Amino acid sequence: MSAKILDGASVARAIKDEVAGEVAEYSRRGVRPGLAAVLVGSDSASQIYVSGKVRTCEQLGLYSEKIDLPETTTTEELLALVRDLNSRDEIDGVLIQLPLPRQIDAALVLNSVDPAKDVDGFHPVNVGRLTLNEPGLRPCTPAGIIELLDRHEIQMKGARAVVMGRSRIVGLPIAMLLLHRHATVTICHSRTKDLPAVAREADILIAAIGRTGMVDRGYIKPGAAVVDVGMNRVTTREELARFFGDDSKRRAAFDRNGYTLIGDVNPREAAEVAGYLTPVPGGVGPLTIAMLMKNTLTAMKLRRVA
Ligand code: NDP
Repeated sequence: MSAKILDGASVARAIKDEVAGEVAEYSRRGVRPGLAAVLVGSDSASQIYVSGKVRTCEQLGLYSEKIDLPETTTTEELLALVRDLNSRDEIDGVLIQLPLPRQIDAALVLNSVDPAKDVDGFHPVNVGRLTLNEPGLRPCTPAGIIELLDRHEIQMKGARAVVMGRSRIVGLPIAMLLLHRHATVTICHSRTKDLPAVAREADILIAAIGRTGMVDRGYIKPGAAVVDVGMNRVTTREELARFFGDDSKRRAAFDRNGYTLIGDVNPREAAEVAGYLTPVPGGVGPLTIAMLMKNTLTAMKLRRVA
């Protein structure tokens, strides 16, 4: 068996096209969704992420502001900025790029974002709304996974879903979303006993643990839909050979960059057993940014248009 690809890149493109269409329509009526992305310090990965988010806003016609603050910013200064962004009507989404420098009380800052502008869906009010299945802003990566499953017509209702990982960014919210779609959900973590046996019960297996290629054929029920959220780097030739064999594209990427990306799933073994599989890269990753755009539009609709 060779798993069908769950193509996150094309689903992300479709979502972005839909958002761009709606944004154009609202702009003609004089309202335009706006996102403020706050970056504290000079972490290079964060710089790339925030620039990508702002660029995508521009491509889709959303208003955006990138706010760069120095590494030495204090909690009070950041709270003052968030208060200002909360009060500005043209800003629908406030995004605080993580991680924040150590001196900043990250929980205090994230909880100070107006829940109506919390486009990451991390605020306790939005976590509560998600739990209660009430309208609100949902975390982008999990919401993107639901779009991916829906648009590939993977049946969630009645399915056995196993979520590996219980983080508040991915594991917990995707478990909730799957539950609300009437899947029977099991959440696993680092203390779960006999994890492969639990995972093998899944019709839908979500791997969000941050462990390089750990989910091998022993974790996968034949025919299952496997969603690989992990983003890890293969940095040694031994791992490159183990996971990718003589795949020439992967070798070329490794030689060019010194690494190649891999998820939490062993891609070759999973492809032989699973019915559906997300690739890494090109699976869950592109959906996250597309859903951020969609959330910013939703935040505008809920707060300014409804
Ligand atoms: P966290 O580190 O916050 O959480 C990891 C979770 O996995 C924890 O619940 C942990 O259990 C569990 N875990 C770790 N090791 C094992 C193990 N050996 N067996 C079972 N469970 C284990 O990670 P995130 O949820 O933030 O991210 C997970 C992965 O997804 C990472 O690779 C990250 O880079 C990627 N990611 C990708 C995104 C994308 O857009 N593609 C977006 C966000 C994340 P415990 O709670 O017991 O410690």
